[in-house]
Amino acid sequence: MVTNGAAPISEDDIKLSVAIIGAGPAGYYTAEALTTGKPGVKVDILDKLPTPYGLIRAGVAPDHQSIKNVSKRYAATNDRENVRFVGNLSLGQDITMAELKDLYDVIILATGAPTDRPLGIEGEDLDGVIGSGAFVGWYNSHPDYADLNPDLRIASVAVIGNGNVAVDVARILAKTANEMKDTDLAAHAAEAIHKSSSIKDIHVIGRRGPLEAAFTPKELGELNTLENCVALLDPSQLPPASGDADLSGAVKKNMVHLRAIAENTADDTKIRLHLMFYAQPVGILGEGRACGLTLEKTILVDGKAKGTGETEVLPTGLIVPCIGYRTSPIEGIPYNTGRGIFRSDEGRIDAQTYCVGWARRGPSGTIGTNKPDGIGIAAKILAEVKGGHKEGRVALDRLIAERNLHVVTFANWKKIEAAENSAATNGAPRLKMVDVDDMVSIAES
Ligand code: NAP
Repeated sequence: MVTNGAAPISEDDIKLSVAIIGAGPAGYYTAEALTTGKPGVKVDILDKLPTPYGLIRAGVAPDHQSIKNVSKRYAATNDRENVRFVGNLSLGQDITMAELKDLYDVIILATGAPTDRPLGIEGEDLDGVIGSGAFVGWYNSHPDYADLNPDLRIASVAVIGNGNVAVDVARILAKTANEMKDTDLAAHAAEAIHKSSSIKDIHVIGRRGPLEAAFTPKELGELNTLENCVALLDPSQLPPASGDADLSGAVKKNMVHLRAIAENTADDTKIRLHLMFYAQPVGILGEGRACGLTLEKTILVDGKAKGTGETEVLPTGLIVPCIGYRTSPIEGIPYNTGRGIFRSDEGRIDAQTYCVGWARRGPSGTIGTNKPDGIGIAAKILAEVKGGHKEGRVALDRLIAERNLHVVTFANWKKIEAAENSAATNGAPRLKMVDVDDMVSIAES
């Protein structure tokens, strides 16, 4: 039983048409929670790409296949009669927010945070400065970034940030073809990384210290197990070992890895991966193309990085800021510019519009964090929205037909999936397609 207005009603009787925008983890967990035991709640999950699963497909690192297994759960949600995937349908381009509001009782924005946060320093617009959203999209075959073509015929890379994305980017650049053979690394990225790259030094740069780093122990530990890369760290950047016993949780485990890394010595036949702390980027040098990163030494003041005025230039031809993401604004939806998220009251934007996942809370947590988020927003909607009456999917289908839109259903996505699976070689799980038109033509075949 849920309370929907004055009188309690049975879950079987709830009638609601819902459009979720974004077919990533937040969208699917929300759809699952909304429809479990409630056959009258009809959910359409819309995505601008012809492929579902959002960050599972285009964000999770290609060598972390076990994390991607969660997509089986989302596929099972999609098998429900009252859940549909409608791919290749772009909000703002194919359909407006106002139109969606006419068609559905509730709109849920699960659009994630696809835009890179800017560093806000001079030189950021130079060629060779590529935010992690674009860079990760490139090696993960996201259609928007397939043509990024970063020049890896350089000696040194600067990866800015001390989160798991920075660790992912550094690891993918350092791993050999052999280490990546059973992954779904994009074919164009494999070519660039394993055939053309002349990278010898990868710098992972944190503006604070080892104790403040955001990466998690498992991900950090992987940096010390690479076939053709030695992780290095100046031991003087570590706090005294006498304090380790008082640490706890992830920080304590990170310290074990960092102390092991600090004992490594460089092997000039291998790539060197330098973990650098207490250094903040203050400028990027170059004319047209980046050739150096100016770093300012920092100290911690009240837990925050404070510049000391002492700078050095790190010569580098590729700078990848991995410093977080922002949700893309949508016309008519209130937006918190400072935080890069939609303005909402715990997910409620207005009586008909809600947000969930990174679009609601910002880019934090793991894939699993979206599950309680989805459950929470579903419960809130079912408690707040009074009986639905809009046509939902029937009306959307009418609009799709009128506009002759080439949307991709879940059954047709499975044709794309089958084509990608059968194109894979050497133990790879799939060879991802990158061209939307090619995907749509397979979907419609
Ligand atoms: P994150 O964990 O928030 O890390 C961002 C890093 O960027 C922090 O070290 C931050 O430093 C630094 N930073 C921010 N602004 C900066 C600036 N202006 N100059 C220099 N450094 C700056 O973000 P993320 O790595 O993008 O990851 C996003 C979320 O996805 C996280 O929750 C992460 O754990 C998750 N994720 C998980 C996995 C996995 O589980 N394998 C993989 C990838 C991502 P301060 O701390 O000083 O602000």
